[in-house]
Amino acid sequence: MKKLISRKVILKTPIFQVSDNWLLDPEGHKIRRILVEHGGSTVVMPVDSEGRICLVRQYRYPVRAYLWELPAGMVDTGETPLQAAKRELAEETGLRASKWRKLIEFFPSPGFQQEKMTVFLAQELKPGPARPTDDEHLVVKWFTPDWIRRQIERGKICDAKTIIGMYAYEHLRK
Ligand SMILES: [Mg+2]
Repeated sequence: MKKLISRKVILKTPIFQVSDNWLLDPEGHKIRRILVEHGGSTVVMPVDSEGRICLVRQYRYPVRAYLWELPAGMVDTGETPLQAAKRELAEETGLRASKWRKLIEFFPSPGFQQEKMTVFLAQELKPGPARPTDDEHLVVKWFTPDWIRRQIERGKICDAKTIIGMYAYEHLRK
């Protein structure tokens, strides 16, 4: 355990903020940790009555690539991860689900950032109007689990939350 001596927010953005922290370790050494503070994300694995999975494709500027991913988004202030999952699913795909179950939660990169991701399985789906935000140009499509697994094995699907969600779902089905 380390004791916090000082914390200063050095950058605020709509998605995260960056803080500069000085800590004291048990031996009395001062350590600096610059970290990304984040309220968490929610991830949805929508599975229809035929067992197909809904993915969304979008351009991800940080990695300069179009990626197929599970629908996901930030947990807003005052929301639970499940409430955020229902909102994000409706916004990005128009789908509403009447059966929800938590699959797995994980820290994608705990070395420098706080974000925790929670993946939910969403079943018994009904279609409705999608309302993505202006900066989301999403393509929504359904795929078989076999196709998704093959794309993961070939390195074509390489988004972490999608890979982890997929393996957690396959494990559950066994
Ligand atoms: Mg999103």
